[in-house]
Amino acid sequence: MSIDVNNETKKLGKNSILIHGGTDGDETTGAVNVPVYQTSTYKQDGLGKTRGWEYSRTGNPTRDALEKLIADLEHGKFGLAFASGLAAINTVLSLFKSGDKLIVSDNIYGGTFRILDNVFKNFGITYEIADTSDLSSIEEKIDDSVKAVYIESPSNPLLTVTDIAKVSQIAHKHNKLVIVDNTFLTPYLQRPLTLGADIVVHSGTKYLGGHSDTISGFAVVNDEELAKRLYYLQNAIGGVLAPWDSFLIIRGIKTLGVRMDRHVENALKIAKWLDNNRDIKKVYYPGLKNDPGYEVQKKQADGPGAMISFVLDSGYDYKKFFENLRLITLAESLGGVESLVCHPASMTHAAIPADIRKKVGIVDELIRLSVGIEDGDDLISDLKQAIGASRKER
Ligand SMILES: *Cc1c(COP(=O)(O)O)cnc(C)c1O
Repeated sequence: MSIDVNNETKKLGKNSILIHGGTDGDETTGAVNVPVYQTSTYKQDGLGKTRGWEYSRTGNPTRDALEKLIADLEHGKFGLAFASGLAAINTVLSLFKSGDKLIVSDNIYGGTFRILDNVFKNFGITYEIADTSDLSSIEEKIDDSVKAVYIESPSNPLLTVTDIAKVSQIAHKHNKLVIVDNTFLTPYLQRPLTLGADIVVHSGTKYLGGHSDTISGFAVVNDEELAKRLYYLQNAIGGVLAPWDSFLIIRGIKTLGVRMDRHVENALKIAKWLDNNRDIKKVYYPGLKNDPGYEVQKKQADGPGAMISFVLDSGYDYKKFFENLRLITLAESLGGVESLVCHPASMTHAAIPADIRKKVGIVDELIRLSVGIEDGDDLISDLKQAIGASRKER
């Protein structure tokens, strides 16, 4: 974690910040890239005389460069990098204590649900599920024990859009924190801190890294007190991002803008194609005008992202659909340059009990597509042939 003294960066456009934000190259040698400081410890010139670095769990210059970069991108003051998205979420949830309660979006990343339900609940930190796209349902559930509202917008896997500014207003009226998982849109498309959120978390494994080769996570805040507590927890819990992985994520972020533009272009094309397709029962994508989240999404973000979920018509066998895809890969994860498809009920969201899954709409037939940056027409051809090959025999 480090204090952003470079206010100049904030005046740059978002594409320039991707390239020049945080620490721009190496002061000492002029290297245009931040070096990989592959070291666990640092020489001290005398007792208590450090050169600003002591031990790499506490601080590492490569990680520090990335932490400044993610803070700049989110228009925040303090960034923290972790070994995974869940390590970031674990650290943020460790702000709370026994007796505290969180209000949580009714469809969120399965691993987030799992850590709440099977880890933090054991420590007396509980949660209550709400449809956070319905503001009254949040207001209704706020009581003294509630300390924070935790949202994903758009959510995983149903792409439900929550009005971040309105939720923040409600939460702040009652002195509660707002935590937003911004993995699906990235700061290139949405900056929750500017909408009023207190803490942004990320799985950097996804679009920020962008190449399906590195696990990482982030937390970003503006409030100095909150930053100090999180920095303390980051060091105390220890789930920090390694120097080499920090380098890879910095490298990934440089192309975030061009990748996201292409991801969104492809996703819009595919979502429209799916929406006009009689073989598809339902499409979830906030970039479609008929999607319930369209207007709020348009207001609070620069684009709808590239995650699409859909349900095949009952005449089709979704298991066969997965087996017949050729170009699109069946795999966990999302946000890489290659298109990935997954079956939330048995894969990413298997940790959520079947009754809750069904209640919120994560049906067995639901298919989640992470649209990559291949040629959009090739992706549509692959979807078309796999749908055709999955028709049930009569
Ligand atoms: C993947 C993901 C996470 C967890 O991140 P890891 O890097 O896999 O630990 C959290 N939130 C969302 C929305 C995700 O997609």
